[in-house]
Amino acid sequence: MSDCCSVSGQPTTTVLNEDRTAATSATCVRCGGVGRSVERKTVLHHVRHELLDRVNGEGYRFCPDPSCSIVYYGDGGTRFTTNDLRELVTVKANGDERPICYCFGFTEGDARREIARQGSTAIPVRITQLTKAEVCACEVRNPAGVCCLGQVNQVVKRLSEEHKTASESTLVPAHDCCAR
Ligand SMILES: [Zn+2]
Repeated sequence: MSDCCSVSGQPTTTVLNEDRTAATSATCVRCGGVGRSVERKTVLHHVRHELLDRVNGEGYRFCPDPSCSIVYYGDGGTRFTTNDLRELVTVKANGDERPICYCFGFTEGDARREIARQGSTAIPVRITQLTKAEVCACEVRNPAGVCCLGQVNQVVKRLSEEHKTASESTLVPAHDCCAR
C-alpha cells in the first residue's frame, strides 16, 4: 500500500495535463498562431450541416492566418478547415468571389467593379450606415466572429491603389519611351 507510486504521481500528471491543455488550446496546431475566441454559435453558423454534430461544448478559436487551412479549432482537439465551411473565409481566400462583408453580401468583386466604374466605392459607407442602424450580425455572419469593416477598408484601400496604378499606366502612351 505504502509503495504505491500512483498516489504521489497523480497530482504531477494532472498538472502536466493542465499545462499541455493551456498551451495548446489557444494555439493553432497547424500554423502555431494564436487565434481569437469565437462563440459556439458562430461555428454552428458556418460549418457544413453534415459536420454540425462535431460542434460540441469545446471553447473554439478562429485562426486568422491567411496561409493556414484551419478555420476553427477547439480546446478539445476538434478542427474545422476551409473545406468544412459553407462559405469562403475572407482572410483565407482570394479573388473577386470572396466575401468581404457577410452581413450584407458584398464581395471583393463588387468593390472592384464599383472602383473600376467610378474610381471609388461607397461600400464602406453603406456598411457603416447599416452598422450604425444596428442591423449587422457580424458575430455570427462573419466566420471570424468580428465586425468586417476593418477587412472591408483594407480591401478597398488595396483595390483603389491597384486601380490608381492601372489608370496611371494607361495614361502613358505606349510610344512615350521613344520621346527620350
Ligand atoms: Zn492556423
